[in-house]
Amino acid sequence: MLSKEKTMEAIEIMYEMFPDAECELIHKDPFQLLVAVILSAQATDVSVNKATPALFAAYPTPSALAEAPIEAIIDKIKTIGLYRNKAKNIKACAAQLLERFNGEVPRTREELVSLPGVGRKTANVVMGDAFGEPAIAVDTHVERVSKRLRICKLSASVTEVEDTLMRKIPKELWVKTHHTMIFFGRYHCLARSPKCDICPLLYMCQEGKSRMNKI
Ligand code: SF4
Repeated sequence: MLSKEKTMEAIEIMYEMFPDAECELIHKDPFQLLVAVILSAQATDVSVNKATPALFAAYPTPSALAEAPIEAIIDKIKTIGLYRNKAKNIKACAAQLLERFNGEVPRTREELVSLPGVGRKTANVVMGDAFGEPAIAVDTHVERVSKRLRICKLSASVTEVEDTLMRKIPKELWVKTHHTMIFFGRYHCLARSPKCDICPLLYMCQEGKSRMNKI
């Protein structure tokens, strides 16, 4: 496994490759971000961004979304995978924001994960991007990159990946690193065809070296 120092060396290189990495989900406030992240489970940000402008134009606030007919919500998000469940979740989530949090998105992980459709990853994205709270959300890209570079064990669960990253990366860099690793995984170390042949991290990447040896 990579040491703390080597992990930061790899991440510094990723920062240089993707200096403008940021949340790609379209949103104007914490509520819209929360809804967009719920919708992004097992779906691409691109597909979510195609649907949310019309959804947010029709239902811009928790009260509007909570009162919207479920079929109308489904109609707005039916291009996104798992849209029926997600429609139920975002409507129920909006209702709970009104009932329990005065219509505001809560800031703590404990409160966020108590909302319908919100797991630890979603809570971490909202904490980091809406409120600037230190958090590392482990999505498919962050997990894949962390494992390929052996920042964590190949057998690590998502929670173990998060714990390892939090141990190896200074807290003030968690949010920036989360975005940078997503960009690195989305645009460079892709799931099916990572760009190992032009990767500046090849010298420290076992996965890349073994892929290159097979070519
Ligand atoms: Fe990913 Fe290949 Fe770079 Fe390793 S060498 S980080 S597998 S692109």
